[in-house]
Formats: sequence, structure tokens, C-alpha cells
Amino acid sequence: MQLKDKVAVITGSASGIGKEIAFEFAKEGAKVCIADLALEAAQATADEINKGGGTAMAVAMNVTDETQVDAGIAQVVAQFGGVDVLISNAGIQIISPLVDFKFDDWKRLMAIHVDGAFLTTRAAMRAMIKVGRGGSIIYMGSVHSHEASPLKAPYVTAKHGLIGLAKVVAKEGAKDGIRANVICPGFVRTPLVDKQIPEQAKSLGISEADVIKNVMLKETVDGEFTTVQDVAQTAIFLAAFPSNALTGQSITVSHGWHMQ
Ligand code: NAD
Repeated sequence: MQLKDKVAVITGSASGIGKEIAFEFAKEGAKVCIADLALEAAQATADEINKGGGTAMAVAMNVTDETQVDAGIAQVVAQFGGVDVLISNAGIQIISPLVDFKFDDWKRLMAIHVDGAFLTTRAAMRAMIKVGRGGSIIYMGSVHSHEASPLKAPYVTAKHGLIGLAKVVAKEGAKDGIRANVICPGFVRTPLVDKQIPEQAKSLGISEADVIKNVMLKETVDGEFTTVQDVAQTAIFLAAFPSNALTGQSITVSHGWHMQ
């Protein structure tokens, strides 16, 4: 049990990568908070974890809403006694050529990825400092924190930005034992990716099979998707790491698509 009695808040954990992290963290002994826009799905995830012998609570949280974020973190502190790990994971994807990108879509994506990371970080750091036992903040970046792809201007911008935020949190958090790191996955088959396969096929004028083979997995060493399990194991490693020796870093899990 690498995370015994650690309290972990995971945003966007009613689905995909965040959900798998929640299950794996619970198996490692963490008390997990499923913080998501989709409250029903978050509650169902928490119920499933509790039924399986873990400890979980669900919180309705739109990460772009300052009041909801602060209230959600306060609820976790009241129920579980603090916050040891924040995984800022909630995210969406919107694809379009830059010249056609709607400003509202740009702002919506940036708000979820960047404002959401800031608001949840600020609330979690305040709680960590108050309780005084340090903590680990993990951002869900992407290979797109390092590489660019066409059609993804705000996503690539936001994911690069998270690396900057993690570096600042590493510097400001060190004196309180707070570490910050970024996980950068390659393509993972979640609802976020399943939605974009037909969209990319249409935008690029190629088949869905070609999107998978020649766009998404083209640069990997073995033509394979990264899995939710791969990402969850990396999150456990970062959350359990015992000191500030590992802070301000990004770890890429992408079948070699991006090599640092
Ligand atoms: P997903 O669509 O399966 O899950 C995203 C979750 O975020 C959903 O439960 C959704 O309700 C929640 N969410 C969306 N907006 C929210 C908001 N404003 N407030 C709170 N919750 C909100 O997606 P996923 O693939 O699991 O993606 C999770 C993270 O991983 C994202 O940040 C994404 O950019 C990143 N990522 C995904 C991949 C991939 O290939 N799937 C690769 C690299 C990085």
C-alpha cells in the first residue's frame, strides 16, 4: 500500500484516465475524492470504490468555478482531514484549424485546462500548508506539453502552460514540502480520444483507421496506444515519491512518441 491514508483529490475522475487513477489510488490505500462536473457519474464511481472496500467521496466541481473549487476542497478537508495529493486532470479537446477556431471555444478549453489547474492548485496548496504535512500536485499534461500537432492550438498551448505552472509550484511549494510534476501521456483510448477520431478523419480527409495509424500512433516505437493503467501507475509513483528531489519535472508515458 504505497498511498495508505493519503487523501487524493482527482479532478475529472468520473471518466477515462482520472477514473482509473481513482481506482488504483484506492487500491493503494488512498482516500479519494472524485471531483467532476458530472456529479452522477462521480457519485457512481465513488460508490463503486466504496463497495470494493476502498474509501471515496464525490464532489460536484466545475474546475473553472472559483467558488465550487474552494467549496469542494473545503468539503474534502472536512470529511477526510486534509489534502495530500491533487491530480489536476479534468480536460476536454476541441479540434479545428487555427484560422477557423472560434474564440469562445479557445476560451472554454483554456479555462478548463489552465484556469482549472490554477484554481485547484491554489485551493489544494492552501489546504496542504494549513495542515502542514506537505503534498504532491500532479498535472495531467500530454505529449502536447512538448510537441505540437495541427488542429489543436489551444490544447497544445494549455498543455505547454502546465509545465510552467508546475515549475512555479515546485519553487513556491518546496518550503512546505509540496512537490509538483506533470504526466505527459501519448494517446489513450478514452471518450476524449474516441470523439476526436471521426472529427480528425473529417478535418484531414482521411479514414478513421488512418487517423489511428498515421496520425495518433505514427511516431510511437511500436504503434500502440498508452493505457489508462500506464498513466495510473505513473501517478502512483509521483504521488508516493517521498521528497522534493523529484519536483518541477514532466514524465512522458507515450510508447516513445516523445523522447526527452
Ligand atoms: P475523458 O473525457 O474520459 O474525461 C474527462 C473528465 O473531465 C470527464 O469526467 C469530464 O466530466 C471532466 N470534466 C470536463 N470538464 C470539466 C470541468 N470543467 N470541471 C470538472 N470536470 C470536468 O478524458 P481523458 O482522456 O480521461 O482526459 C483526462 C485528461 O488527460 C485531460 O486533461 C486530457 O487532456 C489528458 N490527456 C488525455 C489523453 C488521451 O489520449 N486520452 C492524452 C494525454 C492527456
